[in-house]
Amino acid sequence: MGLFSNRVKREALQPGDHIYSWRTAYMYAHHGIYIGDGKVIHFTRGQNQELGTGTIFDALASSLHPRPMGTTCQICGIDPDSWGVVQSCLDCFLFNCPLYRFEYSTDIATFIAKARGGMCTIAKTDSLELVTHRANYLLNHGFGSYHIFHNNCEDFAIYCKTGLLVIERNGIGRSGQAITFLGAPFSAVVSTPLRFLMANPWGLVAVTVGVYSVSRFAADIGVRSDVAKVEVEDLAANLTGRRT
Ligand SMILES: [Zn+2]
Repeated sequence: MGLFSNRVKREALQPGDHIYSWRTAYMYAHHGIYIGDGKVIHFTRGQNQELGTGTIFDALASSLHPRPMGTTCQICGIDPDSWGVVQSCLDCFLFNCPLYRFEYSTDIATFIAKARGGMCTIAKTDSLELVTHRANYLLNHGFGSYHIFHNNCEDFAIYCKTGLLVIERNGIGRSGQAITFLGAPFSAVVSTPLRFLMANPWGLVAVTVGVYSVSRFAADIGVRSDVAKVEVEDLAANLTGRRT
């Protein structure tokens, strides 16, 4: 597994793996839990479901649905009306995009070196059996409402892998995706004296990536202090009381 690519072949997948696939010209990744037999459990929004951000990100996230409008998969039966926690075949999950595996127990140096969000975490994965149990349990009980910043497909997969949930919901978001979209690193760079050191645009890019990585590190589920281990049965029991 290389430093800058988590590409993986289908044959190498194990039930309980956290997999993802880039969408919309590498702007956003869709995440899920591979459960074996060519099947994936993932958290998705419906085609017509409001995301609630009222921004361009709503449109970007519309590409996350596994099926285009008007088509039903003959293999797994998923259709455009499916939403929430769904099970589909690997082809519907990938939607002709390359397959990647999310890394756990990443060391800090590697984590910082990964420029983009949604590739790895320093958090440890639980046993693959427990991961598939959580995914299957949430398939039957749901994972609350989809929200691009506060409750998205990456949060779902990370929860299945670690059992960790962020308790505070007003922070900078749980997952790398949220950090990507918030743009905080970039605004941090352009608002500091560092910008005067930039002789050319590539310098700005390099510094932005550096700040970005540190921001992601601070937000990584593996280093945050505002997370709690929650059993899937307890989570499901409390979902009905959560924000819709
Ligand atoms: Zn399918």
